[in-house]
Amino acid sequence: MPRGDWHRTLEAKVRSGGRLALEEGLALYAEPDLAWLGGLANLRREQAFGNQTTYVVNLHLNYTNLCVGSCLFCAFARRPGEPGAYEMTLEEMVERIGTLRGVPGAEVHIVGGLHPKHPYRFYPDLLEALHRADPGVHLKAFTAVEIEHFAGLAGRSVEWVLEDLKAHGLGSMPGGGAEVLVERIHRKLHPTKIGPDRWLEIHACAHRLGIPTSATMLAGHIEMPAERLEHMDRLRQAQDRSGGFLAFIPLRFHPGNTRLAGLPLMSDEQVLRDLAIGRLMLDNIPHVKAYWVMSGLQAAVRAQWFGADDLDGTVVEERITHMAGCLSPAGLAEENLRRLILEAGRQPVRRDALYRPLEPLPVEDEASCASTS
Ligand code: SF4
Repeated sequence: MPRGDWHRTLEAKVRSGGRLALEEGLALYAEPDLAWLGGLANLRREQAFGNQTTYVVNLHLNYTNLCVGSCLFCAFARRPGEPGAYEMTLEEMVERIGTLRGVPGAEVHIVGGLHPKHPYRFYPDLLEALHRADPGVHLKAFTAVEIEHFAGLAGRSVEWVLEDLKAHGLGSMPGGGAEVLVERIHRKLHPTKIGPDRWLEIHACAHRLGIPTSATMLAGHIEMPAERLEHMDRLRQAQDRSGGFLAFIPLRFHPGNTRLAGLPLMSDEQVLRDLAIGRLMLDNIPHVKAYWVMSGLQAAVRAQWFGADDLDGTVVEERITHMAGCLSPAGLAEENLRRLILEAGRQPVRRDALYRPLEPLPVEDEASCASTS
């Protein structure tokens, strides 16, 4: 089919809410007109969200980088005693979330390494201490990889662990650890941690228990476009069954200080292509998030015209990507985050951890906008 006809067919399909086939998604990876692709994704984005871009006031707690894992793409993990190894105490973490006190809709994003010594009880105790310190803050905690590790520590099922963590304050789960949901990538890059089937099973279990989650895709290493599509297809099928994914978050791999350090950093154009194709293929996942820490600030501005309806977040203070040489700031004051959205010509709207808009803000909250970093 001539390209103009193909463009018009896809535009009509997107306008009418039709589902794109995998071959169409694959062809979009070869589409030379990136601006047209962005426009196509923007059609779907604006159908649902108009001109608004949401963001959350959040804090990343990367509580330790001690890890028994050994993933080729990881610059974060350390063995005990290695230079750069650290772990935070409960008291330090409780003190950190004090910075969010009284901020409506605030979220703590808690992710760490697979600690070699902590017993299972450490994790529910951590959630309980944070919840007690500020019951108003939403606790988004632990990737599927950590949940599997905890189940091993407890000698219990994943379902039991998730129910227990929920009873201690777990509000939702982040989408990390998916990498690319393809067995070849699992075998080559992270054979010692869970693979695609188990990652999907754990998220399905969380959804059954009423714990919403996100889904990431770590791209820009050894994966092929067809494998990115396979990843999206597996997520789309899982979401058809459970409906529990709130957001899709494509991540740009940063090779610095990893065992893949010879690879080039993926271009901004590829970052935007992943966002746009994610928006178009994942028609059943409501939000597509641009994670500015990994995309970079300029790509995050452009992302809002390539399908992204959400910008994550104030973040203060991210460590995982920064240990891979990422040059973005470790956090943004809320006023600067709002500026990135305005710079894109979009309307900033603060949301809570479950993507519910909180604006218009009460007057006293506007006054506290810049107080989180
Ligand atoms: S990616 Fe996670 S599990 Fe793998 S080595 Fe790094 S911290 Fe450990």
